[in-house]
Amino acid sequence: MSDAATPREVVLVRWGEIFLKGDNRGFFERALVDNVRRSVAAIPGVTIQRMHGRLVVRAGEGGARPVTRALERVFGIVSVSPARVVPRELDAISAAAIEVARIEAAKHVQPTFKVESRRSDKRFPMNSMEVSRDVGAAVIGALALPVDVHHPRFTVGVEIGYEDAFVFAEVLPGPGGLPTGVTGRVELLLSGGIDSPVAGWMLLKRGCSLGATYFHSFPYTGEKTQDKVERLGRQLAAWQLQPMRLSVVPFTDVQKQLRDASGDGRLAVVLYRRMMMRIAERIAYRAGAKALATGEALAQVASQTLENLSVIGASTRMTILRPCLGHDKHETITLARRIGSYETSIEPYDDCCSLFVPEHPETKAKLAVVESMESRLNIPAMVEDCFARTTNVTCEPR
Ligand code: ATP
Ligand code: MG
Repeated sequence: MSDAATPREVVLVRWGEIFLKGDNRGFFERALVDNVRRSVAAIPGVTIQRMHGRLVVRAGEGGARPVTRALERVFGIVSVSPARVVPRELDAISAAAIEVARIEAAKHVQPTFKVESRRSDKRFPMNSMEVSRDVGAAVIGALALPVDVHHPRFTVGVEIGYEDAFVFAEVLPGPGGLPTGVTGRVELLLSGGIDSPVAGWMLLKRGCSLGATYFHSFPYTGEKTQDKVERLGRQLAAWQLQPMRLSVVPFTDVQKQLRDASGDGRLAVVLYRRMMMRIAERIAYRAGAKALATGEALAQVASQTLENLSVIGASTRMTILRPCLGHDKHETITLARRIGSYETSIEPYDDCCSLFVPEHPETKAKLAVVESMESRLNIPAMVEDCFARTTNVTCEPR
């Protein structure tokens, strides 16, 4: 196909400045580029070019839309702009700016505009102010549009790259955060509920990479529940832009022993959770993870009071991250909808922690009481046994 017939569309990608300080800059930028590459890997004909403080993603024949949609999942991106590519000449830039301005002006009743320019290539003979002034004059000449430098209805952006120039008006918000993979590995306790996938997503957004552990109490929690957790795992993998390991721990025997040790059962959930932490910690060490994570939110249910969270936390020396801690339920639900996990999470399933639990569980667990219950059991042997029987599933990005 000749150059003229090829759609010359690109997407300009911008990222945050905060994490670009100091020694980490190169590392963070490389991670971002790798993640952008992964996100568009399935779109034919896409190429990626680095520019100073920007990425230029050249769209294939499908145009910019599939690219901007894919980039919505790349953490670290602050905004993207589908843009026209033109030669680095003022006439060509002005002609494109007039076209872009004509389209934007039609969207407003009383359109006003300004031109904002930026040079990645400082060797370009005009500075940004001069480019903005001349391109602005060309737009006024062609369309007789008024300029408003303070509150324009729209802004025409011009970027001077090393080989081409880019002209655009649209600025679409990115997901923000940090490039996934830069802050370290975390082991997520992933259940079939609403909260834990959201907790995982929030950590991906802060640059973590994830492995996940699911405690399966067959036959009390059926194959359908495991299938649901695997689907949630694939949804998280899609945001991670890489496959995610899901460890499935056979928990039934241990759970029964803990229930029996808990007497009237009021502390059963606290005992289950402490055991989950110990086993997940074991899996986390092997995976090189630096922390555990749960979907717990303060005082959402009986097991999540400050007292109970403390007693649960005392079972491991590893840091437990609880990204949903301060959420109201509806905030978590709003995020779950955005992530795409909500519809899966609300499918009916059996929660292993509601097994064998009385109607009024303890809300003020005491560590000494819990420890004395556990002292009747061989906890290390139970942990080792579960760990040895754990199987792994790979969740591919869906
Ligand atoms: P979720 O919606 O994530 O299940 P929840 O509000 O229902 O959370 P609980 O069911 O009490 O809360 O669980 C609290 C946290 O403990 C979960 O967010 C999850 O991280 C972890 N958890 C609970 N059950 C399991 C399980 N079977 N496998 C793995 N993690 C679990
Ligand atoms: Mg739950």
